[in-house]
Amino acid sequence: MDWVSDNIVIAEAASKKGLCDHCLGRLFGKLGTGMTNEQRGRIMRDELSSRGVDTKAPDVCWLCDNVFDILGRFADAAADAVASVESENFLIGSRVDPEIAAKEKSLWDELGAENAESLKTELNREIGKLALPKIHRAVEFKNPQVVACVDTQFADVTLDISPIFISGRYNKLSREIPQTIWPCRVCRGKGCPRCHGIGKMYSTSVQEIIGDIAIEMSNGKEHFFHGMGREDIDALMLGTGRPFVLEISSPRIRDIDLDELEKKANVSDMAKFNSLTFVARDAVQRTKDLAPTKTYKVRVRAEGKVNKERVNEVAQSFRNLCIDQRTPARVEHRRADLVRRREILWVEADWIDESTFDLTLETESGTYVKEFVSGDDGRSSPNFSEVLGVKCGVETLDVLAIND
Ligand SMILES: [Zn+2]
Ligand SMILES: [Zn+2]
Repeated sequence: MDWVSDNIVIAEAASKKGLCDHCLGRLFGKLGTGMTNEQRGRIMRDELSSRGVDTKAPDVCWLCDNVFDILGRFADAAADAVASVESENFLIGSRVDPEIAAKEKSLWDELGAENAESLKTELNREIGKLALPKIHRAVEFKNPQVVACVDTQFADVTLDISPIFISGRYNKLSREIPQTIWPCRVCRGKGCPRCHGIGKMYSTSVQEIIGDIAIEMSNGKEHFFHGMGREDIDALMLGTGRPFVLEISSPRIRDIDLDELEKKANVSDMAKFNSLTFVARDAVQRTKDLAPTKTYKVRVRAEGKVNKERVNEVAQSFRNLCIDQRTPARVEHRRADLVRRREILWVEADWIDESTFDLTLETESGTYVKEFVSGDDGRSSPNFSEVLGVKCGVETLDVLAIND
């Protein structure tokens, strides 16, 4: 075999270091197909002795400390770890003692070994081969659901379990809860007198109502909530609901019953959920990137008398009209102060009494609706109050539809 005689000089120098067959053969890992590194090592050693070079394998390998003698133990430990979680597929990884990795690198440099494979790559493959028949799941290289990483120095296994993603739509039926967990402003989650020790500004949220149940069902670690935008705490989310993706990290059970999750979450009278389905990770970005128009209903209180015809007339005047909105005074402390142009698609009025009326309106994503009605001291222009000639304020705001 050409690759053998071509590399005999490297092999001789390497064998004098006292390498096991695996480590010797791995120096030529990218050459000669259909064989293991151990076989490559043996072929090299045979070739050397036929040329009169004494190359007995040492009792303890200079490079790997005979790590290959205990591959079976690694494979058992990895198989046990994978068996402790539910998955369709898996991958074995390894962590090599950094000192050994550095030693290997300097050996390559010293010998000019250009066709070497790394110890880590060989360990991953060989442990995987031994573990595969014990695991009965498919090996997945690209997007494994679980990676069992064998630390060869301490012979322990850590599991890296990929998250599950569940999309759905939610209704928020309470004006007292936020969409996502809101950590306490004072203690940032640790617990303090301000938050009565719970570490949060609100006792629960849409996220926690479904996320806590999903964690329990999947035996996962943490939940993350990715909504297609969000409404204010004091706003309701009605209609068919707002799209979201719930992410559960490190789920030991992946295939949870989504009907059951929906049923359990819907026991809450503060939020309801529908259309739950498993989705891939990229659904998170897609959900966040979409910015559909929204339909709102607001209860408006006027600070003076208004008549029905005039309210209707003003409502009609806001059809496909762009308004400029400077960052509202109420969110100025946490958002950059700039002017955004947003379109009001249509407004319909429903007069109730001389100082009360409802507006139903569809607006471009990102429109500050309360400020469109009040004018926010001229920061939103044109605005409903200004055109009506009477100062108005929003009493309640509900999202009727996310038009995605
Ligand atoms: Zn070795
Ligand atoms: Zn606190």
